[in-house]
Amino acid sequence: MAARGKVAAFNLPPLPTVGEIIKLFRLQAQKQLSQNFLLDLRLTDKIVRQAGKLKNAHVCEVGPGPGGITRSILNADVEQLLLVEKDPRFIPGLQMLSEAAPGKVRIVHGDILTFKMEKAFPKHLKKNWEDEPPNIHIIGNLPFSVSTPLIIKWLENVSKKNGPFIYGRTQMTLTFQKEVAERLTANTGGKQRSRLSIMSQHLCTVENRFVIPGQAFVPKPEVDVAVVHFTPLVQPKIQQPFELVEKVVRSAFQFRRKHCFRGIETLFPESERLKKTEELMMAADVDPTLRPFQLSMSHFRNLCNTYRKMCEEDPSLFAYNYREELKQKKRQHLPKSISQTEQTE
Ligand code: SAM
Repeated sequence: MAARGKVAAFNLPPLPTVGEIIKLFRLQAQKQLSQNFLLDLRLTDKIVRQAGKLKNAHVCEVGPGPGGITRSILNADVEQLLLVEKDPRFIPGLQMLSEAAPGKVRIVHGDILTFKMEKAFPKHLKKNWEDEPPNIHIIGNLPFSVSTPLIIKWLENVSKKNGPFIYGRTQMTLTFQKEVAERLTANTGGKQRSRLSIMSQHLCTVENRFVIPGQAFVPKPEVDVAVVHFTPLVQPKIQQPFELVEKVVRSAFQFRRKHCFRGIETLFPESERLKKTEELMMAADVDPTLRPFQLSMSHFRNLCNTYRKMCEEDPSLFAYNYREELKQKKRQHLPKSISQTEQTE
């Protein structure tokens, strides 16, 4: 069955429905792998429309499963579609789709977390970072346990212009648990403002496009799902290395409900903690009594820039790890017999 949404420009020949494919190849969703399928092709068309015009585009779909979103992508008249699927049970059904769209589909049986995206598309598609995004898109409805670590990895790739961003500002249209999507897009002061909000918004334009109610999936997950679209920014809002921004932001959100200086303090060894925290907050012009979720992007920019200067003045500072110091202190306070046993283990 071909999709009928507005996106359809190219029609697949008659095929079994996604539901029939599931029955034919006995593709029962594996609950422990959070496999929840979309069978309604109007909905998969709507997800695919969020990516923008796909005519002649090169698309990578992550986790195609039984192929609902895959059909909508093919119906949008793409040039090439790369499918990366971890579960071998889905490969024969995807091959059937591939035969219906000759020369367009490449199927990779593999894990998207380790798949080398820098070689996924032809070289001639590369654009300069400052130019319009290349005609390359990543689209996917993955399990939540994969989509969050994956977006963190891809944000690091955006920052370093490697992985899928070796081709320029490749756009992504991905699903997340609704609450995670709210964190990704939360504004200053918002209830869901978190580390993920800063890490994503300082590198990308992030838009929460629409919510898919849990009951649209088979089987129905416990939660609702949201479709989020990412376009990497030409200039990141914080122009510092990914690892440095990550460290400052993670520290700031360490104690969510406390004043922000409590988290910022953890950037510094105990011996100089008060003095250095005060120095950082003053130079960055941040009110230490604000809560972490009240800090704006420019507050974080100032904090990162000032922390960078402090790291340049004291080259051992960046390697300092608060949790390590805590662990060591705990060990020192243990009765001798216990700490000796621990050391010999
Ligand atoms: N996209 C299909 C849909 O919307 O109906 C399936 C969605 S299901 C939530 C997630 C799919 O991602 C499954 O097919 C699963 O096998 C696949 N998957 C899970 N982890 C993966 C990984 N690390 N790499 C590639 N595919 C993965």
